[in-house]
Order: sequence, then structure tokens, then C-alpha cells
Amino acid sequence: MTRTLLTDGYLVTVDPGRRVIERGWIAIEHDRIVGLGSMDELPEQPGAEVVDLAGMLVLPGFVNGHNHHWASLFKNTGEGLLLEDWLDQVTLPLMAQLSNEDLRVAAYLGAIEQLRTGTTCSLNHVINVNDADSMQAMIEPVLDVGIRQLVTKELRDTPAPAFSDAYAARPHVRDREQELAIAEEVIDRWDGAGGLIHMGLAIETGANWMLHNTTSDEIILAGVELARRRGLKITNHCSAGTPWLSGRAFEHQTGGGDIDYLARLGALADSWVFVHALHLKDRELDHIARSGAAIITNPVSNAYSCDGLPPMRRLLNAGCTVGLGSDGAYVNCSLDMVQQMKFAALLANATHDDPLLMTAERVIEMATIGSARAMGLDHLIGSLEVGKKADIVAFDLRRAHTTVGNRAIAALVFSAHGTDVDTVLVDGKVVLRGGRLTAFTAEQEVLVEATARAHAAIERAGLAERVFVDWRPVR
Ligand SMILES: [Zn+2]
Repeated sequence: MTRTLLTDGYLVTVDPGRRVIERGWIAIEHDRIVGLGSMDELPEQPGAEVVDLAGMLVLPGFVNGHNHHWASLFKNTGEGLLLEDWLDQVTLPLMAQLSNEDLRVAAYLGAIEQLRTGTTCSLNHVINVNDADSMQAMIEPVLDVGIRQLVTKELRDTPAPAFSDAYAARPHVRDREQELAIAEEVIDRWDGAGGLIHMGLAIETGANWMLHNTTSDEIILAGVELARRRGLKITNHCSAGTPWLSGRAFEHQTGGGDIDYLARLGALADSWVFVHALHLKDRELDHIARSGAAIITNPVSNAYSCDGLPPMRRLLNAGCTVGLGSDGAYVNCSLDMVQQMKFAALLANATHDDPLLMTAERVIEMATIGSARAMGLDHLIGSLEVGKKADIVAFDLRRAHTTVGNRAIAALVFSAHGTDVDTVLVDGKVVLRGGRLTAFTAEQEVLVEATARAHAAIERAGLAERVFVDWRPVR
């Protein structure tokens, strides 16, 4: 039996009582936490491999509720554009260039960056045109690096007649029945793989995508039914983009917002994970709260794209489950959840004039149990509790920029960097120790290949002159 004993850490459990144990131990068997407590009451643990975490802040691994792993190849390609222009001029051209090998290398890179900054689980919101082979290319690296992921298969279907004539018709390569068959196939194949893979769906019903004719009413309803039947979550960009561009055009055409549209269609359900939720009307927020759907906020991404910021007080007061995400690295430029927590707190302070709304404790909750609950995984991860998966991170805060942090939790959120993580366990296995990846050894090769593949894709997409600029004139 594989037994591991973590000793002498400052345990921030994020359990229902929000217990903090100043000098604590955690016992692990196989993939699960089987005991934890104070070092004063440490029982005999014969045969356990001991991992000394003296002086470290130990908490559940971060859960990144919104990411697009392929975007890890394209940081800093979208500066200077609003979201709508960025989508048409940068993202869609890049997406068209991606081979399965590009997807594979991007998946390695995203997984490595996340492990190295204390994230043990993420939701990979897949928005490229994906088939069984490309899903395999994205999932195998996750298993190889040893990180947990909720992987989503997008269901895409061209509406007939077209939903909008705002963009040139670009019919989807597969029909609805084929899309649904591939979804069932990849769920059967990958759900539960390695104890690390959890499958879900992506359906894009936000204004931007609807105006691009990516999604029919029929695929929305079929996806909701598939999710209900198989107990899946459905991730969906919602109420984002520039309010006076795609948001206004969508409202002009449909008479309401993104959530109004789903409500009228009878498609609201607790399986939805709504991403962003920036410009919701009160009635739309009420629909989300009453349906039991969840929200993932991504304030860094929203600020990067000049979309606005999440209305945190309204989201929380509505009683919604709210988690935290980074979004794809192309609209964030970092997957570091410590950064996301700090920005989430500071941007909410600046927009709400309320220093008690988004405290260090609140953003830690959002980045752990909040995202886990939104993703339907809170029975497995998101807190340090007996019976849960041993997905655990330990931060070394005895460094120049953190050592006089005075209050450990605040030091983690406001002074630390994700790269201060010293030790990471996923599914009971030590995958990072002393700042070194222990399970995956080809990190350098991934970094070299990712750089080459990113540059080649940018060249093929005709974006080299836009991206590879040493210094842009300041307006
Ligand atoms: Zn996104």
C-alpha cells in the first residue's frame, strides 16, 4: 500500500469549518487523504514515506475553472484589440493553423505551467473543431504530466437558417448527429482515465459565437439532454465581449441577453458553467441562481480585453456558486492562480469600494472549493478533508518577498507568486518537490518545441508582422 505522510505544515484546509492547523500532518493512502490533524497528536504511521513541509503553507491545489490549453502557445498575441477584433483577426486565424501535434505540445506546456504555479486541476474549455484524434492529443499529455483536468468536447452545429448574417457563412464540418456521436465516444473513452480525467461538454451560446453561427438551438437542447443523462457539466462563455459591439448586436436581434436566450429556449439547467457573466441583467442572474448553474469569473482576462469586470457583489448576493479562472493564456498571459487571486481581490476593491467583499479568504475559497463546486468535483477536490483526493500544494513563504508576510493567508494572496510553490501532489502522487517536476522529465524539450510550434503557427496565420514587434509606438 502506498502511504505518504506530510508533516509539520501550516494547513489551510478550506473544509466546511475553514479550519487552519498551525502545525499539521496529512496522511495519504493511494490517491486519498485518510487522516489529518495537529502534530501534537500525530499517530504512528508505520511504513509511510515522510514529506517534511516544515514552515510551508499547505492548502488544496488550486482549481482553475476556465482555461483553453491550446492558447498556451499564444501569449501576448492579442494586445491592442477589443475582444471582437481579437477573435476575428487573431484567434480564429491561429485556431485554423493548429495540428494535433500543436495541440499536444500546448497541452504539455499548459499542464507544466499550472503544476509549477500550484494548480492541480483545470477546466480545459475546448473551442477548436475537435474530433476523437485531437481530443486524444490534448488528453494524453495531461496524464503524462500527472495533473487533473475536466476536458470538454465542444458541440458545434451550424444553424439553419443562419442565426445571423453578420459574418460570412462558414458551415461546420460535421452535422449534429456526428458531433453527438463523437462526444459520446470520447466521453466513453476518456472519462475517469488515470484517475485524472473528467469529461464534460462545451456549448457556445454567448453573443459573439451565436453571431458567428457556431451553435444551433437543436445542439443546445441536445447537449443539455446529454449532460443530464451522463451527469456532465457544460462550459459556456456568457455575457462577455464588448457591451456596445457583440452584446448590443445580440440584444438587438434577440431582444435580450445571453441568459435570456437560454431561458426562452428552455435550456437552463444546473449543468451549465457560465464563464465571465459580466453584463447580466438582474433577471438573468436570477435565472442562473434558480437553475443551480455556476459562474466562473476571470477578471484578468476581462481587464485585458477591456470587457468590463465581474459584478462580484451581485454574483455573490444572488447565491450563485462562483469560482475563479484564468481564461486562455492568450487573454491573460499567465495561468498563475496566485496572480488571479490577487487581481480578483484588487479589481473588486477598486470597483466596489468595499474592502471586505473580496478578502484573501474569499479569493482562496473561489480558487479552490468554489471552482471545484462549479465543476461538479467538490466531492473529490477543493479542500483538505479525509476521503477526498490528495491534490495538495505547499508554498514556501520563507523568501525575501514573503518571509515577513505577518499573516500567512494574506502573504500567499498579496505577496507570493505561484512559482513559490515547493511541493505538489496530485491524486496522491508527488509530482513537484523542491521546485522540480518529479514525474515528468521532458520539460526542457517541451519548452523548445512549444516555442518553435508557436512561431510557425503565427507565421502560417500571417500574423508575424503583428506579433513579432520589438516596440510599438505609444499613441
Ligand atoms: Zn475563454
